[in-house]
Amino acid sequence: MTIYRSHLPDQPVPYMNAYSFAISNPNNTPDEYPILIDGITKQTLTFGQWRHDIRRWATALQHSLGFKRGDVLALFSFNQVDYSVTMFGPLVFAGITTTVNSAYNADELAYQLQDSGATAMVTHPELLVTARAGAKKVGLPEERIFLYGDQIVDGFRPYTSLLPPVETPESQLVKPVVLDAKECKETTALICYSSGTTGRSKGVELSHLNFAVNAAQVVACDGELKAHDNVALSVLPMYHMYSIQLHLMCGAHSGLQNIVMQKFNPEDFLKIIQDYKSKIPRTIDECSNTKGNKARALQATNTPRIILNKTTKQIVKTLNLVPPQVLMLVKSPLVAKYDLSHVRQITVGAAPCSRELIEALLEKYPAIAFRQAYGMSEASPGTHVGLYNDMVHGSAGKMLPNQEVRLVDSETGKDAAPGERGEIWIRGLNVMKGYRNNEKATKETIDSEGWLHTGDVAVVDTRGNFFVVDRLKELIKYKGFQVAPAELEAILLTHPQILDAAVIGVENKEQATEVPLAFVVKNQSSPEGKALTEEQVVEYVASKVAAHKKLRGGVRFIDLVPKSAAGKILRKDLRVLLEGPPKS
Ligand code: ATP
Ligand code: MG
Repeated sequence: MTIYRSHLPDQPVPYMNAYSFAISNPNNTPDEYPILIDGITKQTLTFGQWRHDIRRWATALQHSLGFKRGDVLALFSFNQVDYSVTMFGPLVFAGITTTVNSAYNADELAYQLQDSGATAMVTHPELLVTARAGAKKVGLPEERIFLYGDQIVDGFRPYTSLLPPVETPESQLVKPVVLDAKECKETTALICYSSGTTGRSKGVELSHLNFAVNAAQVVACDGELKAHDNVALSVLPMYHMYSIQLHLMCGAHSGLQNIVMQKFNPEDFLKIIQDYKSKIPRTIDECSNTKGNKARALQATNTPRIILNKTTKQIVKTLNLVPPQVLMLVKSPLVAKYDLSHVRQITVGAAPCSRELIEALLEKYPAIAFRQAYGMSEASPGTHVGLYNDMVHGSAGKMLPNQEVRLVDSETGKDAAPGERGEIWIRGLNVMKGYRNNEKATKETIDSEGWLHTGDVAVVDTRGNFFVVDRLKELIKYKGFQVAPAELEAILLTHPQILDAAVIGVENKEQATEVPLAFVVKNQSSPEGKALTEEQVVEYVASKVAAHKKLRGGVRFIDLVPKSAAGKILRKDLRVLLEGPPKS
Protein backbone atom coordinates (compact mmCIF):
# COMPACT_ATOMS: atom_id res chain seq x y z
CA MET A 1 0.00 0.00 0.00
CA THR A 2 1.38 3.45 -0.90
CA ILE A 3 0.08 6.17 1.37
CA TYR A 4 0.78 9.81 0.57
CA ARG A 5 0.93 12.47 3.27
CA SER A 6 1.19 16.24 3.32
CA HIS A 7 4.53 18.07 3.25
CA LEU A 8 3.13 20.07 6.19
CA PRO A 9 3.00 18.78 9.77
CA ASP A 10 -0.36 17.71 11.15
CA GLN A 11 -2.29 20.48 12.88
CA PRO A 12 -3.79 20.29 16.36
CA VAL A 13 -7.30 18.88 15.99
CA PRO A 14 -10.00 21.36 17.05
CA TYR A 15 -12.35 19.11 19.02
CA MET A 16 -14.96 21.78 19.55
CA ASN A 17 -18.22 23.23 18.37
CA ALA A 18 -17.59 24.58 14.85
CA TYR A 19 -19.09 27.94 15.84
CA SER A 20 -16.65 28.20 18.74
CA PHE A 21 -13.80 27.42 16.34
CA ALA A 22 -15.02 30.07 13.88
CA ILE A 23 -15.00 32.81 16.53
CA SER A 24 -11.80 31.68 18.27
CA ASN A 25 -10.00 34.63 16.66
CA PRO A 26 -6.34 33.55 16.49
CA ASN A 27 -5.32 36.75 14.74
CA ASN A 28 -6.90 39.13 17.26
CA THR A 29 -9.28 40.64 14.76
CA PRO A 30 -10.77 43.74 16.38
CA ASP A 31 -14.53 43.60 16.95
CA GLU A 32 -14.91 46.65 14.77
CA TYR A 33 -13.16 45.18 11.78
CA PRO A 34 -15.58 44.84 8.84
CA ILE A 35 -15.37 41.21 7.72
CA LEU A 36 -18.34 41.05 5.35
CA ILE A 37 -19.28 43.89 3.01
CA ASP A 38 -21.83 43.78 0.18
CA GLY A 39 -19.90 44.89 -2.91
CA ILE A 40 -22.85 46.88 -4.24
CA THR A 41 -25.01 48.08 -1.32
CA LYS A 42 -22.01 48.27 1.07
CA GLN A 43 -24.10 46.68 3.85
CA THR A 44 -21.49 45.68 6.42
CA LEU A 45 -20.97 43.24 9.24
CA THR A 46 -18.06 43.72 11.59
CA PHE A 47 -16.41 40.80 13.34
CA GLY A 48 -18.13 41.71 16.63
CA GLN A 49 -21.48 42.24 15.01
CA TRP A 50 -21.24 38.95 13.10
CA ARG A 51 -20.39 36.98 16.24
CA HIS A 52 -23.13 38.64 18.28
CA ASP A 53 -25.76 38.30 15.54
CA ILE A 54 -25.12 34.56 15.28
CA ARG A 55 -25.92 34.22 18.98
CA ARG A 56 -29.02 36.40 18.58
CA TRP A 57 -30.19 34.20 15.72
CA ALA A 58 -29.52 31.04 17.73
CA THR A 59 -31.62 32.55 20.51
CA ALA A 60 -34.44 33.41 18.12
CA LEU A 61 -34.40 29.90 16.64
CA GLN A 62 -34.76 28.35 20.08
CA HIS A 63 -37.14 30.84 21.69
CA SER A 64 -39.35 31.86 18.75
CA LEU A 65 -39.23 28.76 16.54
CA GLY A 66 -38.77 26.06 19.16
CA PHE A 67 -35.55 24.74 17.62
CA LYS A 68 -33.68 22.09 19.59
CA ARG A 69 -30.46 20.18 19.13
CA GLY A 70 -30.59 18.25 15.84
CA ASP A 71 -33.33 20.40 14.24
CA VAL A 72 -32.61 21.49 10.68
CA LEU A 73 -32.79 24.97 9.18
CA ALA A 74 -32.76 25.37 5.37
CA LEU A 75 -31.20 28.38 3.65
CA PHE A 76 -32.41 28.97 0.10
CA SER A 77 -30.81 32.15 -1.18
CA PHE A 78 -28.26 33.97 -3.27
CA ASN A 79 -25.22 35.24 -1.40
CA GLN A 80 -25.99 37.69 1.41
CA VAL A 81 -23.77 39.54 3.84
CA ASP A 82 -25.63 37.81 6.68
CA TYR A 83 -25.82 34.35 5.05
CA SER A 84 -23.03 33.37 7.37
CA VAL A 85 -25.03 34.53 10.43
CA THR A 86 -27.99 32.37 9.44
CA MET A 87 -25.70 29.44 8.61
CA PHE A 88 -23.84 29.42 11.95
CA GLY A 89 -26.92 30.21 14.12
CA PRO A 90 -28.18 26.62 14.54
CA LEU A 91 -24.64 25.32 15.13
CA VAL A 92 -24.44 27.29 18.38
CA PHE A 93 -26.86 24.86 20.08
CA ALA A 94 -25.94 21.82 17.94
CA GLY A 95 -28.79 22.36 15.50
CA ILE A 96 -28.12 21.75 11.79
CA THR A 97 -28.04 23.93 8.68
CA THR A 98 -28.72 22.73 5.16
CA THR A 99 -27.87 25.09 2.32
CA VAL A 100 -29.91 24.85 -0.90
CA ASN A 101 -28.74 25.66 -4.42
CA SER A 102 -30.45 28.96 -5.30
CA ALA A 103 -31.02 27.76 -8.88
CA TYR A 104 -33.25 24.88 -7.73
CA ASN A 105 -36.86 24.63 -8.86
CA ALA A 106 -39.69 23.80 -6.44
CA ASP A 107 -39.32 20.01 -6.90
CA GLU A 108 -35.58 20.04 -6.24
CA LEU A 109 -36.07 22.27 -3.21
CA ALA A 110 -38.86 20.01 -1.93
CA TYR A 111 -36.58 16.98 -2.25
CA GLN A 112 -33.87 18.63 -0.15
CA LEU A 113 -36.34 19.93 2.46
CA GLN A 114 -37.76 16.44 2.82
CA ASP A 115 -34.45 14.59 2.73
CA SER A 116 -32.75 16.89 5.22
CA GLY A 117 -35.82 17.11 7.45
CA ALA A 118 -35.77 20.93 7.55
CA THR A 119 -38.41 22.52 9.78
CA ALA A 120 -37.86 26.19 8.88
CA MET A 121 -36.39 28.09 5.96
CA VAL A 122 -34.80 31.47 5.27
CA THR A 123 -35.08 32.59 1.67
CA HIS A 124 -34.59 35.60 -0.58
CA PRO A 125 -37.64 37.67 -1.62
CA GLU A 126 -36.87 36.94 -5.31
CA LEU A 127 -37.05 33.20 -4.58
CA LEU A 128 -40.23 33.37 -2.52
CA VAL A 129 -42.49 31.88 -5.19
CA THR A 130 -40.25 28.81 -5.54
CA ALA A 131 -39.72 28.62 -1.79
CA ARG A 132 -43.47 28.59 -1.12
CA ALA A 133 -44.13 26.01 -3.81
CA GLY A 134 -41.34 23.74 -2.54
CA ALA A 135 -42.47 24.10 1.08
CA LYS A 136 -46.07 23.32 0.16
CA LYS A 137 -45.08 20.05 -1.48
CA VAL A 138 -43.58 18.80 1.78
CA GLY A 139 -45.98 20.44 4.20
CA LEU A 140 -43.56 22.99 5.65
CA PRO A 141 -45.90 25.66 7.07
CA GLU A 142 -45.66 29.15 5.55
CA GLU A 143 -45.24 30.66 9.05
CA ARG A 144 -41.85 28.97 9.14
CA ILE A 145 -40.53 30.69 6.03
CA PHE A 146 -38.55 33.89 6.63
CA LEU A 147 -36.71 36.37 4.44
CA TYR A 148 -33.34 38.02 4.07
CA GLY A 149 -33.49 41.81 3.88
CA ASP A 150 -35.65 44.12 5.98
CA GLN A 151 -38.96 44.10 4.07
CA ILE A 152 -42.17 42.19 4.69
CA VAL A 153 -43.13 40.62 1.33
CA ASP A 154 -46.58 39.07 0.80
CA GLY A 155 -46.91 38.71 4.57
CA PHE A 156 -43.52 36.92 4.94
CA ARG A 157 -41.32 38.52 7.59
CA PRO A 158 -37.57 39.07 7.64
CA TYR A 159 -35.79 36.60 9.91
CA THR A 160 -34.26 39.62 11.65
CA SER A 161 -37.73 40.46 13.02
CA LEU A 162 -37.31 37.45 15.33
CA LEU A 163 -33.97 38.56 16.77
CA PRO A 164 -33.76 39.75 20.36
CA PRO A 165 -32.77 43.45 20.63
CA VAL A 166 -29.22 44.22 19.61
CA GLU A 167 -28.38 45.50 23.10
CA THR A 168 -29.23 42.13 24.68
CA PRO A 169 -26.08 41.20 26.64
CA GLU A 170 -24.31 38.03 25.58
CA SER A 171 -25.10 36.46 28.94
CA GLN A 172 -28.80 36.46 28.01
CA LEU A 173 -28.29 34.82 24.63
CA VAL A 174 -28.17 31.09 23.93
CA LYS A 175 -24.71 29.81 24.86
CA PRO A 176 -22.58 27.73 22.51
CA VAL A 177 -22.98 24.05 23.38
CA VAL A 178 -19.69 22.52 24.45
CA LEU A 179 -19.08 19.29 22.55
CA ASP A 180 -16.57 16.69 23.71
CA ALA A 181 -14.36 14.82 21.23
CA LYS A 182 -16.90 12.05 20.62
CA GLU A 183 -19.80 14.47 20.26
CA CYS A 184 -17.83 16.63 17.82
CA LYS A 185 -17.36 13.60 15.62
CA GLU A 186 -20.95 12.48 15.82
CA THR A 187 -22.94 15.72 15.87
CA THR A 188 -24.00 16.91 12.44
CA ALA A 189 -23.41 20.60 11.77
CA LEU A 190 -24.16 20.88 8.05
CA ILE A 191 -26.02 18.86 5.46
CA CYS A 192 -24.43 20.14 2.32
CA TYR A 193 -25.71 18.63 -0.92
CA SER A 194 -23.17 17.54 -3.52
CA SER A 195 -23.45 19.29 -6.88
CA GLY A 196 -25.36 16.50 -8.60
CA THR A 197 -22.85 16.41 -11.44
CA THR A 198 -22.83 12.64 -11.77
CA GLY A 199 -26.33 11.81 -10.52
CA ARG A 200 -28.85 13.07 -7.99
CA SER A 201 -27.36 15.41 -5.35
CA LYS A 202 -26.56 13.57 -2.13
CA GLY A 203 -26.98 15.02 1.36
CA VAL A 204 -23.43 15.12 2.71
CA GLU A 205 -23.57 15.11 6.52
CA LEU A 206 -20.65 16.98 8.00
CA SER A 207 -19.99 16.95 11.72
CA HIS A 208 -18.69 19.84 13.81
CA LEU A 209 -15.30 18.16 13.74
CA ASN A 210 -15.35 17.67 9.94
CA PHE A 211 -16.12 21.35 9.45
CA ALA A 212 -13.63 22.70 12.00
CA VAL A 213 -10.73 20.39 11.23
CA ASN A 214 -10.91 21.18 7.54
CA ALA A 215 -10.76 24.87 8.39
CA ALA A 216 -7.63 24.17 10.45
CA GLN A 217 -6.15 22.21 7.52
CA VAL A 218 -6.87 25.01 5.04
CA VAL A 219 -5.62 27.78 7.32
CA ALA A 220 -2.40 25.81 7.90
CA CYS A 221 -1.58 26.20 4.19
CA ASP A 222 -2.62 29.76 4.05
CA GLY A 223 -0.17 32.15 5.58
CA GLU A 224 -1.65 34.85 3.39
CA LEU A 225 -5.09 34.47 4.89
CA LYS A 226 -3.78 35.76 8.16
CA ALA A 227 -3.08 39.24 6.90
CA HIS A 228 -5.59 41.89 7.86
CA ASP A 229 -4.65 43.92 4.84
CA ASN A 230 -5.97 41.23 2.54
CA VAL A 231 -9.43 41.42 1.01
CA ALA A 232 -11.17 38.63 -0.89
CA LEU A 233 -14.14 38.78 -3.19
CA SER A 234 -16.85 36.24 -2.34
CA VAL A 235 -18.51 35.49 -5.59
CA LEU A 236 -18.71 31.73 -5.16
CA PRO A 237 -22.19 30.58 -4.20
CA MET A 238 -22.48 30.36 -0.42
CA TYR A 239 -24.74 27.32 -0.58
CA HIS A 240 -21.71 25.34 -1.80
CA MET A 241 -19.13 23.91 0.58
CA TYR A 242 -16.23 25.63 -1.26
CA SER A 243 -17.53 29.05 -0.21
CA ILE A 244 -18.88 27.93 3.18
CA GLN A 245 -15.44 26.69 4.17
CA LEU A 246 -13.20 29.26 2.48
CA HIS A 247 -15.17 32.44 3.02
CA LEU A 248 -17.68 31.91 5.80
CA MET A 249 -15.50 29.76 8.06
CA CYS A 250 -11.80 30.36 7.25
CA GLY A 251 -12.32 33.98 6.20
CA ALA A 252 -14.05 35.00 9.44
CA HIS A 253 -11.79 32.84 11.60
CA SER A 254 -8.72 34.52 10.12
CA GLY A 255 -10.20 38.02 10.11
CA LEU A 256 -10.14 38.34 6.36
CA GLN A 257 -12.37 40.95 4.78
CA ASN A 258 -14.82 39.49 2.28
CA ILE A 259 -16.60 41.52 -0.33
CA VAL A 260 -19.85 39.70 -1.01
CA MET A 261 -21.50 39.51 -4.42
CA GLN A 262 -25.08 38.24 -4.48
CA LYS A 263 -24.60 36.35 -7.72
CA PHE A 264 -21.97 36.29 -10.39
CA ASN A 265 -22.28 38.43 -13.47
CA PRO A 266 -19.18 39.54 -15.37
CA GLU A 267 -19.84 43.31 -15.35
CA ASP A 268 -20.56 43.66 -11.63
CA PHE A 269 -17.73 41.30 -10.80
CA LEU A 270 -15.20 43.36 -12.75
CA LYS A 271 -16.63 46.63 -11.51
CA ILE A 272 -16.44 45.58 -7.85
CA ILE A 273 -12.82 44.52 -8.25
CA GLN A 274 -12.03 47.87 -9.83
CA ASP A 275 -13.96 49.76 -7.12
CA TYR A 276 -11.94 48.11 -4.41
CA LYS A 277 -8.81 49.62 -5.72
CA SER A 278 -9.72 53.15 -4.80
CA LYS A 279 -12.61 52.91 -2.35
CA ILE A 280 -10.97 51.83 0.82
CA PRO A 281 -13.29 50.74 3.60
CA ARG A 282 -11.23 50.22 6.72
CA THR A 283 -13.22 51.00 9.79
CA ILE A 284 -16.84 50.88 10.77
CA ASP A 285 -17.10 54.65 10.07
CA GLU A 286 -16.18 54.13 6.48
CA CYS A 287 -18.13 50.96 5.87
CA SER A 288 -21.53 51.53 7.39
CA ASN A 289 -23.92 52.95 4.90
CA THR A 290 -26.61 53.89 7.40
CA LYS A 291 -26.56 55.42 10.82
CA GLY A 292 -28.63 52.53 12.16
CA ASN A 293 -26.21 49.98 10.85
CA LYS A 294 -23.32 51.75 12.48
CA ALA A 295 -25.13 52.05 15.79
CA ARG A 296 -26.01 48.37 15.65
CA ALA A 297 -22.41 47.48 15.04
CA LEU A 298 -21.12 49.56 17.87
CA GLN A 299 -23.67 48.22 20.30
CA ALA A 300 -22.85 44.70 19.29
CA THR A 301 -19.40 44.98 20.71
CA ASN A 302 -18.37 45.30 24.30
CA THR A 303 -14.70 45.96 23.65
CA PRO A 304 -13.25 49.45 23.28
CA ARG A 305 -13.09 50.75 19.74
CA ILE A 306 -9.84 50.16 17.96
CA ILE A 307 -9.08 52.43 15.07
CA LEU A 308 -7.42 50.39 12.40
CA ASN A 309 -4.40 51.72 10.67
CA LYS A 310 -5.81 54.22 8.22
CA THR A 311 -2.78 54.08 6.01
CA THR A 312 -3.32 50.41 5.21
CA LYS A 313 -4.97 50.13 1.88
CA GLN A 314 -7.81 47.63 1.87
CA ILE A 315 -8.01 46.55 -1.71
CA VAL A 316 -9.25 43.35 -3.28
CA LYS A 317 -6.13 41.24 -3.59
CA THR A 318 -7.56 37.74 -3.63
CA LEU A 319 -10.09 36.14 -5.91
CA ASN A 320 -11.41 32.65 -5.19
CA LEU A 321 -12.92 31.47 -8.42
CA VAL A 322 -14.23 28.55 -10.43
CA PRO A 323 -12.86 27.72 -13.91
CA PRO A 324 -15.64 29.42 -15.95
CA GLN A 325 -14.64 32.70 -14.32
CA VAL A 326 -11.00 32.18 -15.30
CA LEU A 327 -12.20 31.51 -18.82
CA MET A 328 -14.10 34.79 -18.74
CA LEU A 329 -10.97 36.67 -17.58
CA VAL A 330 -9.00 35.13 -20.45
CA LYS A 331 -11.50 35.32 -23.29
CA SER A 332 -14.07 38.05 -22.62
CA PRO A 333 -13.51 41.40 -24.36
CA LEU A 334 -15.28 43.07 -21.39
CA VAL A 335 -12.23 42.57 -19.20
CA ALA A 336 -10.17 45.16 -21.09
CA LYS A 337 -12.49 47.93 -19.83
CA TYR A 338 -11.60 47.38 -16.17
CA ASP A 339 -8.52 47.91 -14.04
CA LEU A 340 -7.59 44.69 -12.28
CA SER A 341 -3.94 45.58 -11.76
CA HIS A 342 -4.20 45.40 -7.95
CA VAL A 343 -5.31 41.74 -7.88
CA ARG A 344 -2.45 39.71 -6.43
CA GLN A 345 -3.69 36.15 -6.16
CA ILE A 346 -6.27 33.84 -7.64
CA THR A 347 -7.33 30.45 -6.31
CA VAL A 348 -9.40 28.21 -8.55
CA GLY A 349 -11.17 25.00 -7.61
CA ALA A 350 -14.32 22.87 -7.98
CA ALA A 351 -13.65 21.69 -11.53
CA PRO A 352 -10.69 21.08 -13.85
CA CYS A 353 -8.65 24.10 -14.94
CA SER A 354 -6.02 23.27 -17.53
CA ARG A 355 -2.41 24.35 -17.68
CA GLU A 356 -3.08 26.02 -21.05
CA LEU A 357 -5.87 28.15 -19.59
CA ILE A 358 -3.78 29.13 -16.57
CA GLU A 359 -0.85 30.09 -18.80
CA ALA A 360 -3.14 32.25 -20.92
CA LEU A 361 -4.35 33.97 -17.74
CA LEU A 362 -0.82 34.59 -16.46
CA GLU A 363 0.31 35.93 -19.81
CA LYS A 364 -2.46 38.51 -19.55
CA TYR A 365 -1.87 39.24 -15.83
CA PRO A 366 1.80 38.54 -15.09
CA ALA A 367 1.62 40.07 -11.59
CA ILE A 368 -0.93 37.55 -10.37
CA ALA A 369 0.06 34.50 -8.37
CA PHE A 370 -2.15 31.56 -9.22
CA ARG A 371 -2.97 28.34 -7.47
CA GLN A 372 -5.45 25.56 -7.83
CA ALA A 373 -7.36 23.76 -5.10
CA TYR A 374 -9.16 20.45 -5.14
CA GLY A 375 -11.78 18.94 -2.94
CA MET A 376 -15.33 17.69 -2.65
CA SER A 377 -18.30 18.21 -0.38
CA GLU A 378 -17.63 14.79 1.21
CA ALA A 379 -14.22 16.02 2.47
CA SER A 380 -15.53 19.29 4.00
CA PRO A 381 -14.34 20.10 1.21
CA GLY A 382 -10.62 20.95 0.86
CA THR A 383 -8.07 18.18 0.41
CA HIS A 384 -5.40 19.69 -1.87
CA VAL A 385 -4.14 23.17 -2.55
CA GLY A 386 -1.22 24.59 -4.48
CA LEU A 387 1.28 27.04 -3.10
CA TYR A 388 1.24 30.46 -4.67
CA ASN A 389 5.02 30.60 -4.85
CA ASP A 390 5.54 27.02 -5.99
CA MET A 391 2.66 26.04 -8.23
CA VAL A 392 3.07 23.51 -10.99
CA HIS A 393 0.40 24.78 -13.33
CA GLY A 394 -2.19 22.24 -14.28
CA SER A 395 -1.75 20.50 -10.94
CA ALA A 396 -4.60 20.59 -8.42
CA GLY A 397 -2.07 21.18 -5.67
CA LYS A 398 -0.43 19.37 -2.77
CA MET A 399 -2.10 17.59 0.11
CA LEU A 400 -3.43 19.45 3.10
CA PRO A 401 -2.18 18.06 6.43
CA ASN A 402 -4.09 15.62 8.71
CA GLN A 403 -4.97 13.28 5.86
CA GLU A 404 -3.80 10.15 4.10
CA VAL A 405 -4.24 9.63 0.37
CA ARG A 406 -3.93 6.61 -1.87
CA LEU A 407 -4.19 6.34 -5.65
CA VAL A 408 -5.87 3.05 -6.49
CA ASP A 409 -6.28 1.34 -9.84
CA SER A 410 -10.05 0.91 -10.00
CA GLU A 411 -9.79 -2.22 -12.13
CA THR A 412 -7.20 -4.18 -10.17
CA GLY A 413 -7.91 -2.64 -6.74
CA LYS A 414 -4.14 -2.26 -6.28
CA ASP A 415 -2.25 0.93 -5.48
CA ALA A 416 -1.04 2.57 -8.67
CA ALA A 417 2.72 2.51 -9.28
CA PRO A 418 4.50 5.89 -8.92
CA GLY A 419 3.61 8.08 -11.89
CA GLU A 420 0.61 5.91 -12.82
CA ARG A 421 -3.03 6.92 -12.67
CA GLY A 422 -5.36 5.84 -9.90
CA GLU A 423 -8.58 6.80 -8.17
CA ILE A 424 -8.00 9.21 -5.28
CA TRP A 425 -8.89 7.66 -1.92
CA ILE A 426 -8.82 9.90 1.15
CA ARG A 427 -8.83 9.17 4.86
CA GLY A 428 -8.93 11.83 7.57
CA LEU A 429 -11.09 13.56 10.16
CA ASN A 430 -12.44 15.83 7.43
CA VAL A 431 -14.19 12.92 5.71
CA MET A 432 -17.97 13.18 6.13
CA LYS A 433 -20.08 11.11 8.52
CA GLY A 434 -22.00 9.78 5.51
CA TYR A 435 -24.87 10.57 3.15
CA ARG A 436 -28.16 11.53 4.77
CA ASN A 437 -30.72 8.71 4.57
CA ASN A 438 -28.57 6.74 2.18
CA GLU A 439 -26.60 4.02 3.87
CA LYS A 440 -26.11 2.19 0.59
CA ALA A 441 -24.39 5.17 -1.07
CA THR A 442 -22.36 5.77 2.09
CA LYS A 443 -21.08 2.18 2.06
CA GLU A 444 -20.22 2.42 -1.62
CA THR A 445 -18.24 5.61 -1.00
CA ILE A 446 -16.50 5.06 2.35
CA ASP A 447 -15.04 1.57 2.77
CA SER A 448 -14.71 -0.38 6.00
CA GLU A 449 -11.22 1.05 6.62
CA GLY A 450 -12.47 4.61 6.37
CA TRP A 451 -11.18 5.41 2.86
CA LEU A 452 -13.36 7.82 0.89
CA HIS A 453 -13.42 6.73 -2.76
CA THR A 454 -13.61 10.05 -4.57
CA GLY A 455 -14.39 8.88 -8.09
CA ASP A 456 -11.62 11.17 -9.41
CA VAL A 457 -8.57 9.88 -11.25
CA ALA A 458 -5.17 11.45 -10.62
CA VAL A 459 -1.42 11.07 -10.89
CA VAL A 460 1.12 12.45 -8.45
CA ASP A 461 4.63 13.68 -9.28
CA THR A 462 7.73 13.13 -7.17
CA ARG A 463 7.25 16.49 -5.40
CA GLY A 464 3.73 15.67 -4.22
CA ASN A 465 1.81 17.64 -6.82
CA PHE A 466 -1.45 15.91 -7.70
CA PHE A 467 -2.82 16.14 -11.23
CA VAL A 468 -6.53 15.36 -11.51
CA VAL A 469 -7.08 13.66 -14.86
CA ASP A 470 -10.87 13.42 -14.79
CA ARG A 471 -13.77 11.72 -13.09
CA LEU A 472 -14.02 7.95 -13.40
CA LYS A 473 -17.68 8.30 -14.39
CA GLU A 474 -16.90 10.78 -17.12
CA LEU A 475 -13.96 9.02 -18.77
CA ILE A 476 -14.87 8.02 -22.31
CA LYS A 477 -13.94 4.47 -23.27
CA TYR A 478 -12.91 4.29 -26.90
CA LYS A 479 -12.19 0.65 -27.77
CA GLY A 480 -10.48 -0.08 -24.49
CA PHE A 481 -8.61 3.25 -24.39
CA GLN A 482 -9.54 5.92 -21.88
CA VAL A 483 -10.18 9.45 -23.08
CA ALA A 484 -10.51 12.25 -20.52
CA PRO A 485 -13.06 14.91 -21.57
CA ALA A 486 -11.17 17.51 -19.50
CA GLU A 487 -8.05 16.99 -21.66
CA LEU A 488 -9.93 17.53 -24.92
CA GLU A 489 -11.75 20.54 -23.48
CA ALA A 490 -8.40 22.08 -22.52
CA ILE A 491 -7.13 21.63 -26.08
CA LEU A 492 -10.28 23.08 -27.63
CA LEU A 493 -9.97 26.17 -25.41
CA THR A 494 -6.51 26.90 -26.83
CA HIS A 495 -8.11 27.56 -30.23
CA PRO A 496 -8.31 31.35 -30.63
CA GLN A 497 -11.77 31.19 -32.20
CA ILE A 498 -13.28 28.91 -29.57
CA LEU A 499 -14.77 30.66 -26.55
CA ASP A 500 -15.86 27.60 -24.63
CA ALA A 501 -16.17 23.84 -25.06
CA ALA A 502 -17.45 20.67 -23.43
CA VAL A 503 -16.90 17.04 -24.41
CA ILE A 504 -19.08 13.99 -23.75
CA GLY A 505 -18.92 10.35 -24.82
CA VAL A 506 -21.61 9.15 -27.24
CA GLU A 507 -22.33 5.63 -28.38
CA ASN A 508 -21.24 4.53 -31.83
CA LYS A 509 -23.38 1.46 -32.51
CA GLU A 510 -21.57 0.30 -35.66
CA GLN A 511 -18.22 0.18 -33.91
CA ALA A 512 -19.73 -0.84 -30.56
CA THR A 513 -17.79 1.79 -28.65
CA GLU A 514 -18.03 5.23 -27.13
CA VAL A 515 -16.59 8.17 -29.05
CA PRO A 516 -15.89 11.76 -27.94
CA LEU A 517 -18.20 14.51 -29.20
CA ALA A 518 -17.51 18.20 -28.61
CA PHE A 519 -19.91 21.05 -27.99
CA VAL A 520 -18.22 24.24 -29.07
CA VAL A 521 -19.03 27.93 -28.61
CA LYS A 522 -17.39 29.83 -31.44
CA ASN A 523 -16.31 33.45 -31.38
CA GLN A 524 -19.15 35.07 -33.28
CA SER A 525 -17.56 38.51 -33.08
CA SER A 526 -14.81 37.69 -35.58
CA PRO A 527 -15.19 36.61 -39.24
CA GLU A 528 -12.79 33.66 -38.67
CA GLY A 529 -14.82 32.57 -35.66
CA LYS A 530 -18.10 32.75 -37.55
CA ALA A 531 -16.64 30.72 -40.39
CA LEU A 532 -15.23 27.97 -38.14
CA THR A 533 -16.36 24.55 -39.38
CA GLU A 534 -16.75 21.14 -37.77
CA GLU A 535 -13.92 19.75 -39.91
CA GLN A 536 -11.54 22.50 -38.77
CA VAL A 537 -12.30 21.76 -35.12
CA VAL A 538 -11.90 18.00 -35.58
CA GLU A 539 -8.58 18.55 -37.41
CA TYR A 540 -7.34 20.98 -34.77
CA VAL A 541 -7.81 18.44 -32.04
CA ALA A 542 -6.46 15.58 -34.19
CA SER A 543 -3.24 17.54 -34.75
CA LYS A 544 -2.63 17.64 -30.99
CA VAL A 545 -3.68 14.26 -29.62
CA ALA A 546 -3.05 10.53 -29.98
CA ALA A 547 -5.27 8.81 -32.55
CA HIS A 548 -7.68 7.30 -30.01
CA LYS A 549 -8.59 10.72 -28.63
CA LYS A 550 -9.85 12.24 -31.92
CA LEU A 551 -13.31 13.80 -31.93
CA ARG A 552 -14.86 10.82 -33.71
CA GLY A 553 -18.33 11.79 -32.47
CA GLY A 554 -18.07 15.14 -34.29
CA VAL A 555 -18.82 18.68 -33.17
CA ARG A 556 -22.02 20.56 -32.33
CA PHE A 557 -21.92 24.35 -32.24
CA ILE A 558 -23.91 25.89 -29.37
CA ASP A 559 -24.32 29.37 -27.87
CA LEU A 560 -23.43 28.58 -24.28
CA VAL A 561 -22.01 25.61 -22.38
CA PRO A 562 -24.43 24.90 -19.50
CA LYS A 563 -22.59 25.23 -16.17
CA SER A 564 -23.64 25.40 -12.54
CA ALA A 565 -22.82 28.40 -10.35
CA ALA A 566 -20.27 26.13 -8.67
CA GLY A 567 -18.41 25.89 -11.99
CA LYS A 568 -19.34 22.40 -13.18
CA ILE A 569 -20.15 21.58 -16.78
CA LEU A 570 -23.71 20.19 -16.74
CA ARG A 571 -23.09 17.23 -19.01
CA LYS A 572 -26.55 15.81 -18.42
CA ASP A 573 -28.02 18.97 -19.98
CA LEU A 574 -25.76 18.45 -23.00
CA ARG A 575 -27.08 14.92 -23.37
CA VAL A 576 -30.63 16.22 -23.33
CA LEU A 577 -29.63 18.69 -26.03
CA LEU A 578 -28.37 15.82 -28.14
CA GLU A 579 -30.87 13.09 -27.43
CA GLY A 580 -33.96 14.95 -26.23
CA PRO A 581 -35.40 14.59 -22.71
CA PRO A 582 -35.03 11.13 -21.16
CA LYS A 583 -38.05 8.88 -21.84
CA SER A 584 -39.97 7.97 -18.72
P1 ATP B 1 -21.93 14.76 -7.39
O1 ATP B 1 -21.04 14.11 -6.41
O2 ATP B 1 -23.30 15.02 -6.83
O3 ATP B 1 -21.96 14.13 -8.73
P2 ATP B 1 -19.89 16.83 -7.54
O4 ATP B 1 -18.94 15.74 -7.25
O5 ATP B 1 -19.60 17.70 -8.73
O6 ATP B 1 -21.38 16.26 -7.68
P3 ATP B 1 -18.93 18.58 -5.44
O7 ATP B 1 -18.71 17.93 -4.15
O8 ATP B 1 -19.43 19.97 -5.47
O9 ATP B 1 -20.02 17.75 -6.26
O10 ATP B 1 -17.60 18.58 -6.31
C1 ATP B 1 -16.50 17.74 -6.09
C2 ATP B 1 -15.89 17.30 -7.38
O11 ATP B 1 -15.45 18.42 -8.15
C3 ATP B 1 -14.66 16.44 -7.23
O12 ATP B 1 -14.98 15.09 -6.96
C4 ATP B 1 -13.98 16.63 -8.60
O13 ATP B 1 -14.54 15.79 -9.59
C5 ATP B 1 -14.32 18.06 -8.95
N1 ATP B 1 -13.18 18.96 -8.64
C6 ATP B 1 -13.01 19.75 -7.57
N2 ATP B 1 -11.85 20.44 -7.63
C7 ATP B 1 -11.25 20.07 -8.78
C8 ATP B 1 -10.00 20.41 -9.42
N3 ATP B 1 -9.15 21.29 -8.91
N4 ATP B 1 -9.71 19.78 -10.59
C9 ATP B 1 -10.56 18.89 -11.12
N5 ATP B 1 -11.74 18.53 -10.58
C10 ATP B 1 -12.09 19.11 -9.42
MG1 MG C 1 -19.07 14.06 -6.03
